[in-house]
Amino acid sequence: MQIQRKLVLPGEEIATPEEFVVDGRAYLDGVFRAAALGVAVYDRRSHTAVVKPLREDGYPRQGDTLYCVVTSKGVRALSAKCVAKEGRGVEELKYPVSAVIPPQFVDGKVGIGDYIRARVVSNIGPPFLLSIKGPTFGVVRAICPKCGSVMKRRGAQLVCPACGAVDVRKIAQGFYV
Ligand SMILES: [Zn+2]
Repeated sequence: MQIQRKLVLPGEEIATPEEFVVDGRAYLDGVFRAAALGVAVYDRRSHTAVVKPLREDGYPRQGDTLYCVVTSKGVRALSAKCVAKEGRGVEELKYPVSAVIPPQFVDGKVGIGDYIRARVVSNIGPPFLLSIKGPTFGVVRAICPKCGSVMKRRGAQLVCPACGAVDVRKIAQGFYV
């Protein structure tokens, strides 16, 4: 049997890098592991394997651009809930997914409740690892820290139309109207 199939659970070992080159919903963590519930298909002749998700899970992939709301600021990372994905337009995700943004991928100020445009930097998740580095990534809708209103952009600053509070954010250029 040159082709073999095996049901795999998220995190389950697929193969060692010495045995197989693994593609699809897998990640390398010393050994290749499944990133999703799926089927691992092994081709023993070419020493390649691919992990196919059991059903199209709609999960974001590395390189995708997501829209997320920042839910909390932890000691080690910001937490966010992602609700939409940029494709030909912006599509709502079938299921919102959780994500984290470590400080090295933030590069500026972000507030709780803000909506951000972010890039997925890892296939592992949820929670998915996001980055808002780069000029077109960052806050697309900021929430006033004093009263919760949506802040308006005025030059490099943001101003609250309700209470007059002024703040700054790492704004996604071209995406904050
Ligand atoms: Zn306000």
